[in-house]
Amino acid sequence: MTDAPSLSSSGRLLSVGADAGALPLPRVGEGERAAVQSGIITTSLEKVINWGRYSSLWPALFGLACCAIEMMGTGAARFDMARFGCEVFRASPRQADVMIVSGRVSQKMAPVLRQIYDQMPEPKWVISMGACASSGGMFNNYAIIQGVDKVVPVDVFIPGCPPRPEALLDAVVKLQQKIAASHLPSWRG
Ligand code: SF4
Repeated sequence: MTDAPSLSSSGRLLSVGADAGALPLPRVGEGERAAVQSGIITTSLEKVINWGRYSSLWPALFGLACCAIEMMGTGAARFDMARFGCEVFRASPRQADVMIVSGRVSQKMAPVLRQIYDQMPEPKWVISMGACASSGGMFNNYAIIQGVDKVVPVDVFIPGCPPRPEALLDAVVKLQQKIAASHLPSWRG
């Protein structure tokens, strides 16, 4: 039976018990793995919070055009987005923290897209998937928004028409790296 993890009085020492080496730790390096096997981990609260955030990205169920077909393919078994903790597409923006803008954004759709973004709780991130979402693509006309960053802040842009599922997975990993390197606002005011 595994001992319950505990923090020291300084809040920096985490004891995880003698058989902690059996814990699945797929996203850590050899140094961290050796530390777990020795029974002691030191880390910061910021890293733990970021780890939780980037390990469970939930995209909003939201597609605009042909790029959405590639997004759906990314969630299917062949590409298995679940490996990255990112397959639980949510039908409610209240339960989502990633918006994948997959397809061209029309002038008519832009306020809807913005409303969905506003309904997502903080912290939240945006991936712009494909040439159309990122720049208007081939649709250089008055009906299409020439880049979704005019409507919502974008964290990762994906080029291509359409981008392959591997490109979306690469964007997810880049977003995870960005979240892992982010800093919490100061709690001291
Ligand atoms: S980038 Fe290509 S595949 Fe994606 S929405 Fe535009 S035309 Fe369709």
